[in-house]
Amino acid sequence: MNKPDIDAFHTAITARLSCRKVRYTLGRKAVVESLSKSNGPLSAAELADLHTGTIPLSSLYRSLAILEDSEIITRHFGANGVTRYELAEWLLGHHHHLVCTSCGTVEDVSLPSSYESQIHTLVEEVGKLSSFQAKNHILDIEGICLRCT
Ligand SMILES: [Zn+2]
Ligand SMILES: [Zn+2]
Repeated sequence: MNKPDIDAFHTAITARLSCRKVRYTLGRKAVVESLSKSNGPLSAAELADLHTGTIPLSSLYRSLAILEDSEIITRHFGANGVTRYELAEWLLGHHHHLVCTSCGTVEDVSLPSSYESQIHTLVEEVGKLSSFQAKNHILDIEGICLRCT
């Protein structure tokens, strides 16, 4: 994944939240920064670990709820039923996930555009079989990560 421009994120998010009359508090900013630095989606527990002593747990959960409501973050459902959060695709860009079915780690992966167009063609064909107009796809790859082999 390309390392994102955190200032550009803050500017875009401030604009979106102010439309909704929601304040972009320091706690919410901290959550966005942790998510933007991470190599993959993070669970509430993982975020809490990163902000021990700085963000109270109740405020962290409220921040996650508000950021999700405002479509700044989206949920990711892992192989073992763990819910994680990541920045929405309009911020982070289109990507996929490598999900380890052994330890549950979820890592972001960006594909070369030639792969993306092959997947898009395939998805369109599958859609056509059901008279369905495919627009987008979500693809997680499940398997075993390097640490678990
Ligand atoms: Zn693993
Ligand atoms: Zn894709």
